[in-house]
Amino acid sequence: MSILNFPVIISSIVIVFSWVTSGYTQEALYSNEFPLGDVKITDGPFKHARDLNIEVLLQYDADRLIAPFRKEAGLPEKAKLYPNWAGLDGHVGGHYLSALAINYAATGNKECKRRMEYFLSELELCRDAHAVNNPGWAKGYLGGVPNSRQIWSTLKEGDFAAYQRAWVPWYNVHKLYAGLRDAWLYTGNQDAKSLFLQFCDWGIAITSGQSEDQMQRMLDTEHGGMNEIFADAFRMTGNQKYLDAARRFSHRMLLDAMAAATDILDNKHANTQVPKAVGFQRIAEVSHDSICGKAGRFFWETVTGNRSLAFGGNSRREFFPGVSSCIDFVNDVEGPETCNSYNMLKLTEDLFRMDPREIYAGYYERTLYNHILSSQHPDHGGYVYFTPARPRHYRVYSAPNEAMWCCVGSGMENHGKYNQFIYTHQNDSLFLNLFVASELNWKRKGVKIVQETKFPDEEQTVLKIVEGKSDFTLMVRYPSWVSDNALKIKINGKDFPVNSYPSSYMAITRSWKKGDEITIQLPMHLSLERMPNVPNYIAILYGPVLLGARTGSEELKGLVADDGRWSHIPGGERLPVDKAPVILENSESELLGKLTRVKDKPLTFSTSGLKMLNPSPLVLEPFFRIHDSR
Ligand SMILES: [Zn+2]
Repeated sequence: MSILNFPVIISSIVIVFSWVTSGYTQEALYSNEFPLGDVKITDGPFKHARDLNIEVLLQYDADRLIAPFRKEAGLPEKAKLYPNWAGLDGHVGGHYLSALAINYAATGNKECKRRMEYFLSELELCRDAHAVNNPGWAKGYLGGVPNSRQIWSTLKEGDFAAYQRAWVPWYNVHKLYAGLRDAWLYTGNQDAKSLFLQFCDWGIAITSGQSEDQMQRMLDTEHGGMNEIFADAFRMTGNQKYLDAARRFSHRMLLDAMAAATDILDNKHANTQVPKAVGFQRIAEVSHDSICGKAGRFFWETVTGNRSLAFGGNSRREFFPGVSSCIDFVNDVEGPETCNSYNMLKLTEDLFRMDPREIYAGYYERTLYNHILSSQHPDHGGYVYFTPARPRHYRVYSAPNEAMWCCVGSGMENHGKYNQFIYTHQNDSLFLNLFVASELNWKRKGVKIVQETKFPDEEQTVLKIVEGKSDFTLMVRYPSWVSDNALKIKINGKDFPVNSYPSSYMAITRSWKKGDEITIQLPMHLSLERMPNVPNYIAILYGPVLLGARTGSEELKGLVADDGRWSHIPGGERLPVDKAPVILENSESELLGKLTRVKDKPLTFSTSGLKMLNPSPLVLEPFFRIHDSR
């Protein structure tokens, strides 16, 4: 027995060691992903967004982002706190740490690495200062929550008054937990790992005296994905105490309903709920918990199936509307929030890892292009909070060092991760999920694969094996937006029979070698999608790309937001909805048949052939390319 086991033990030691030394820590938590550094984006809008985002990140003052942590630890001031969104101090710092790690891992950018290491060294000083200054409650604590001492030391005694007066303390510290995890996960940084686990131990200790009822009462306040954090700590260490903590931090109100497939989301704050569901799914994955698994899956199904607009986003005024309130999507200027989609994509990645179905990849692609990519200004790189669906309204953007919104924090991360889901792997299968110009170095198979495409401006992609040889199954995504029998594949110039159908993966098992070339044709077509519960409002899509029209640039008040508390809301004049252009056609097929392509402009259509009320010459183009416009 022991002799037989010996080689297994050796090999697991070797694997753990290789995670530490070669960036494979990412696969330790997310077993189907390639390390970010092994997938290079080589061209296209995602590369532009990623490169611009790094420039934007480096315009922020790291010392000012660190200031809240130093302040709460009792260390002398090095730089002024950012005054915007005072009360939530520290949350953007946590996101910033994640963003530095992600971008360093994806590109090797040295300044991102330097800043990440500086950030971690400052947090070590904070930890040490807490041990001296706050020995009663702060061993391992790192948060920047204002008034930390009063909030946490009283919460430890079961008194929630200060906790409930504060601005979502667990939500706030969750961002730093995630930042530390990401610094370890994406770069293998061991200092980040120890800070993270000590901080987790603090989270367990500070709540250890609470009964189950008290825990649940505490979780009535927005708390980010604290259950996800502890599930990750369990996966990192195998220590049961973290899994127990992940369960204690799971909000039964949502868990029980979702596990019973009951949608109780009406009038619930959306981005309070999504991270809880991410946590349910993580618990399901690390512990095979079927109740949590049902909850994560049902949450995703009901949000994407019943509560999302065509561009992937959800919520208005940050809350899920009830059926009769969905008309608010048309009237309100506080449309879907970017953070919600950031978290929905995490949940989608997690679900796909357990069950790699095309429906997950399809939602991911839809949301990536139309919400996430579109939430970054393509010139100055500012981030969007609300994306209103109100006709002829607009969006506002952040400026570096001004807006400390939640969506700035999640935005800092969004544009560095575009290479995370292009390819995934499972055993001997390689999944081609996204059609993005890129280069994959599949080290375990010893092959390099280049993907050449201008998608979505062209309706095909080409994969080339440029190095090595290996046996594996290529799982080619057959998107739901390609018609039956329309997807075509050629291997080395010869037609390859496609025996698959829309919304599935097509498996091609071969001995692949350098020089092999796979061409995949992906013909797109126009389609309509109705707004949830407001069916006379429709979205027009071409393939996965949502189309929109520029309808003027008058009075774009606060287009680049100032430091005001509410400046993330597009507060310019609301043009009357009943004066907006309205399409008058008898049927969907007539409508689509009358849209005409604009010559020499990809993904662009004219509405000049349509019957309209309040007619206006509209040019439909990808929504993700529309900025600074109504
Ligand atoms: Zn947000």
